[in-house]
Amino acid sequence: MKKIAILGSTGSIGTQTLEVARANPDCQVVALAAGSNVEKMEEQIREFHPIAAGMWSEEAAADLRVRVADLDVKVVSGMEGLLEIATISQSQVLVTAIVGMIGIKPTIAAIKAGKDIALANKETLVTAGHIIMPLAKECGVSILPVDSEHSAIFQSLSVNEENAGGHSESIEKILLTASGGPFRGRTREQLKDIQVEDALRHPNWSMGRKVTIDSSTLVNKGLEVMEAKWLFGVELDRIQVVVHPQSIIHSAVQYTDGAIIAQMGTPDMKLPIQYALFYPERRYLGGKRVDLFALGQLTFERPDTDAFPGLALAYRAAETGGSMPTVFNAANEKAVALFLEKKIPYLGIAELIADAMGRHRLIANPTVEDILAVERQTYEYVEEGLSCK
Ligand code: MG
Repeated sequence: MKKIAILGSTGSIGTQTLEVARANPDCQVVALAAGSNVEKMEEQIREFHPIAAGMWSEEAAADLRVRVADLDVKVVSGMEGLLEIATISQSQVLVTAIVGMIGIKPTIAAIKAGKDIALANKETLVTAGHIIMPLAKECGVSILPVDSEHSAIFQSLSVNEENAGGHSESIEKILLTASGGPFRGRTREQLKDIQVEDALRHPNWSMGRKVTIDSSTLVNKGLEVMEAKWLFGVELDRIQVVVHPQSIIHSAVQYTDGAIIAQMGTPDMKLPIQYALFYPERRYLGGKRVDLFALGQLTFERPDTDAFPGLALAYRAAETGGSMPTVFNAANEKAVALFLEKKIPYLGIAELIADAMGRHRLIANPTVEDILAVERQTYEYVEEGLSCK
């Protein structure tokens, strides 16, 4: 029996994780946590019967307690509740499908409690990779990537089992693929008038709103470069972003003998989720298969960092290291929220990130508290900067 807890169970990755759990009777859901979607949480509790459930807001938790009063489930709330769900004694794996730096503390607590982490929360490694990776090693837990690209790299490395954790001498390069998003091929000039509705239309993947915008700006790819660096212990100059519009090759590893091993498949997040949950076992998964004859060809391009400066900024933040990736991430979060509220133009997202990075006083080796403080300062800075304009 595989016993799992999920942070962010009502979101896109969370609900797909539950689909995987539903299809695998030997997977038991012991705890769930979500932000504020009480209706969906009630449904999930009635179907999966977890021991405990957490809501971020106390108000939502109070509502949930009333709704599930007939069931034997403990309802918790806030950060304390998240920590309780993350470390619940009955679980073996914590799926971190929560969005934002809010995921850092529960992830650390779960690692300390000996849980393996099925990682879908990018911010954890981007901002605190220097804390998380050594801690996971010390506690003997695995960090299993759920992001499709990192899962593809992990699968390509798992071909030689001793490589699965990365740090292999035989890795020459990581080829991190990107669909290029809905605006691939456009010039900077052509991106000036992009509206929220255009940016929310992703050609291949169906995802949450924030990550869809991040895919269109290539900021998401930048965050993934940073994640890959920590997960696989590979230097930045050996991580190459490759634009591949068909999203069939989900990423690849180039070895020192020139061999490239890639993982291909139809774009379906259930595959990486299931692989992370049952690694090293590969199980049946229904759904569409790649039809190579129907595809005919796969194409590749260099990323255009002139039109999409978010990617170049991510490399710069990663090279600088310390607290800079936190600034990059927090400034982007705030800027994307402002864009979604139609308060700034599309190109303003990268401008605000660059501006916040330029103003930041670097902390070389930030603690978790430093990271959270830098996040708050960056949010404030981006908002104040905006109101002064
Ligand atoms: Mg991805």
